[in-house]
Amino acid sequence: MNTSQTSFTGRRVEQQVIGQATQDGDGVKLTRVLTQTHQRRLDPFLMLDNFGSNDPKDYGGGFPDHPHRGFETVTYMIAGRMRHKDSAGNEGLLQNGGVQWMTAGHGVVHSEMPEQEEGVMEGFQLWLNLASHQKLCAPGYVDIPSEKIPELKQDHCITVRVIAGESQGVKGAVVRPAAQFPTNPLYLDVHFAQSATFRQALNPSHNAFVFVYRGSVKVISQHQETTVSLHRMAILQNEGNGVEILGTPGSKVLLIAGQPLNEPIAQYGPFVMNTREELMQAVDDFRAGLYK
Ligand code: MN
Repeated sequence: MNTSQTSFTGRRVEQQVIGQATQDGDGVKLTRVLTQTHQRRLDPFLMLDNFGSNDPKDYGGGFPDHPHRGFETVTYMIAGRMRHKDSAGNEGLLQNGGVQWMTAGHGVVHSEMPEQEEGVMEGFQLWLNLASHQKLCAPGYVDIPSEKIPELKQDHCITVRVIAGESQGVKGAVVRPAAQFPTNPLYLDVHFAQSATFRQALNPSHNAFVFVYRGSVKVISQHQETTVSLHRMAILQNEGNGVEILGTPGSKVLLIAGQPLNEPIAQYGPFVMNTREELMQAVDDFRAGLYK
């Protein structure tokens, strides 16, 4: 009997979620995929927005100056650009396929202005919580251009863009010490050129979900195959040491996972703290101009 070899057990789909059409910023139309309803179940993730349109009227006046405290925003542009400026004097232009990873920490005030390229603009913004001991850390941001995002190629059929974490030995653009950032996020963008199967190891304690943004896929576990259609978020059960995804030709998915913080979540708009008192302090500090 060989007990040293662990076999692969794929997680099942627990629930599928349809995003909600909404507006944010100065009239930007978007789909909120991960809403407050899922913050406990998908701890440490607080929000996922999918924006995209070929009509500039749909992204109105962009996201003019606004504050954040207590968490991180990860913006991934599939097409088009996002110009950002913050109160610390940082300015950058996030381009096609690039990622901006912003740690709001103690507080930033910034603007995020979408710009289309060849008539289209499409992307995602994920909100990732910070542990209580990190909520007031010094703010920071990293712009990762598309060519700096490591890619894993599998059987000429699958390309995995490893934004954060690790996939089959390929380390992502963002990998940080777990002591400082215990959420230990995995953020993969998986493209299927042909019908093919992709397996990703997942720590059983990590909460995980798949969002399909092109085509459709199947999530395969030992006794169950579940079709996940376009624009659905599939929340994965925590039983199993990985996920197996069968993509159709041209399908694309985000696969996102992280270690839950299991701390209280107190949110008021762009401020996410642990208690109501901390939230009130966050608003007071913003009004007093203390965000740098
Ligand atoms: Mn923002």
